[in-house]
Amino acid sequence: MRLQSNLVVIATRNQGKMKEFAKLFGQNGIRVRSLDDYSDLPPIVEDGATFAENAKIKAQTISAHLHVPVFADDSGLCVEALGGGPGVYSARYAGEHATDEQNNEKLLRELEKVTDPTAVLLSPATFVCALALVDTAAHETIETEAACSGFILNEPRGSGGFGYDPLFYIPSIGKTMAELKADEKNEISHRAMALRQFFALISEERD
Ligand code: IMP
Repeated sequence: MRLQSNLVVIATRNQGKMKEFAKLFGQNGIRVRSLDDYSDLPPIVEDGATFAENAKIKAQTISAHLHVPVFADDSGLCVEALGGGPGVYSARYAGEHATDEQNNEKLLRELEKVTDPTAVLLSPATFVCALALVDTAAHETIETEAACSGFILNEPRGSGGFGYDPLFYIPSIGKTMAELKADEKNEISHRAMALRQFFALISEERD
């Protein structure tokens, strides 16, 4: 991997993600740029069936255009009672520009149809995060994926985090993701675990 070039483009325009990734790459001696640093980029067609496919599509599309290593992530929620849904449709579950609240409401509505209405914990679920670093010029790809297990609660609890966090209950902690402090979530989240694996692989490659 040409990471010796010390520059990685992160395939996102999300400022929050960018800040988090820039810090972690920086700690590993790698400078980053975001998609906002470039113009005339090709459209990214996120039509993969899995998180891993989508992360790779994003990284590959941009790397093939810019000829530099590109890093991308894709994540979402998989609920057992919904056959793994909303999965890759997590962000747009209740519609193309759905809010977190609308997505959470839709999740509860869908679960009401298929679960015991008196249950507090409606269904086992996992948050999944896939990461990909693609360098098309060097024909190299690094991929990692991690999952965090919990249950979907029958009503939201907590005001931290984002997305489905208020409905995602972790029995071993006795709290939803939205009731955890940011530091606590960053210890156990799917994204944190996938990133730890990723940087372990990167440092092996660079040694
Ligand atoms: P993306 O990886 O930014 O495309 O995220 C996809 C969607 O998955 C988000 O819009 C959220 O709805 C959901 N999601 C991903 N990670 C989390 C998380 O840590 N907490 C809550 N929801 C999440």
